[in-house]
Amino acid sequence: MELYSIKDLDLKNKKVFIRCDFNVPTDEYNNITDDRRIRSALATINYCLDQECAVILASHFGRPEGKFDEKYSLAPVQKRLFQLLKRDVVLASDVVGEDAMQKVSELKNGEVLLLENLRFEAGETKNNEELSKKLASMADIYINDAFGVSHRAHASVEGITHFFDNNSKAAGFLLQKEIQFFATLMKKPARPFVAIVGGSKVSGKLEALVNLLPRVDKILIGGGMAFTFLKKLGYNIGASLVEDDLLDEAGRIMDEAKRLGVKFYLPVDIIAAEKFDAEAVSKAVTSQEIPDGWMGLDIGPATVRLYREVLNNVQTVLWNGPMGVYEMERFARGSIKIAGYVADSYATTVVGGGDTADLVQRIGLDDEMTFISTGGGASLELLEGKTLPGVEPLVKVAAE
Ligand code: AMP
Repeated sequence: MELYSIKDLDLKNKKVFIRCDFNVPTDEYNNITDDRRIRSALATINYCLDQECAVILASHFGRPEGKFDEKYSLAPVQKRLFQLLKRDVVLASDVVGEDAMQKVSELKNGEVLLLENLRFEAGETKNNEELSKKLASMADIYINDAFGVSHRAHASVEGITHFFDNNSKAAGFLLQKEIQFFATLMKKPARPFVAIVGGSKVSGKLEALVNLLPRVDKILIGGGMAFTFLKKLGYNIGASLVEDDLLDEAGRIMDEAKRLGVKFYLPVDIIAAEKFDAEAVSKAVTSQEIPDGWMGLDIGPATVRLYREVLNNVQTVLWNGPMGVYEMERFARGSIKIAGYVADSYATTVVGGGDTADLVQRIGLDDEMTFISTGGGASLELLEGKTLPGVEPLVKVAAE
């Protein structure tokens, strides 16, 4: 698949609207705790500025309820952008209101304007045409560099593209990179290719599992989703997370893996706890011996060793979803150990955004991975084989 590229556009003396994903985590004092998403957008922003155009940046931030809310202002992002770009960034006090429109009309080449949080406008998440039109009216060129939100048909992501012809819209460098990376991963991975799939539920990753099966050589299952598979195999899983309505589907996945010759691994032991609590009494048990009423909250030490062996000789690793309740220290060990093995491997290692990216960063292994996606939901939809609504209008040549 080939996307329209900024490099093919003539940006000189134009107003360029760049949809970014500045939805960064902050602490209780409004300090940005991880600015990776802002740094990831710099290549596109700097490229545009070098072409002597005026830049309008737009992003959502948190989940305000369609109206101005100081708590969700992009002011902290403005400050960080100023530090990173080393030039003034003006923040409009609204999105498409009087102030934004006034500032857009005064914007000159080389200047950067940041609109307020797109979700202060209720029409953003509803893909409202009126809002898309107002946003589009600000600029000559539209660039989408917000991979993390490209699986959403929102006004600044999808609706807005209808107001630009093919010579005036393009994918930013980050979006290009994400799409290309996942396309290569799904089409031409170096083998053996292993997918590590964890997280809470089978339902959230079902389509991704089904789509991955014919492409991978091995699948390692962890997290809460493991218990639906273990239950299907007849194990007593105590009070662990389970989706009874998906037992048959879990069986079909395991049968299909067998038919395709894909090695399908489940945890052989578990850290089980008396209750879902960071301080709960817990112990390592084999997957056959989870006590009644106890719940499995992490993979056990034997599984960690087994998965290390599996990871030893692979060429490509895709990891999506933690191995346990990594937010609680006691149940984070499995995920941390696996992160270490993935980081140490000589394989191409791809971390699929969301919780897994968060975990890898928290333990300082982000630089050791080949690629960490900036979008959890968006990367999952790519793994499911979908074309994202924010990407579709930017496709120049469809995938063969
Ligand atoms: P997901 O959004 O599906 O990737 O799931 C991530 C969440 O799964 C994290 O918040 C983990 O705490 C949770 N999780 C992982 N393992 C388990 C488990 N064994 N039981 C309950 N929740 C889990």
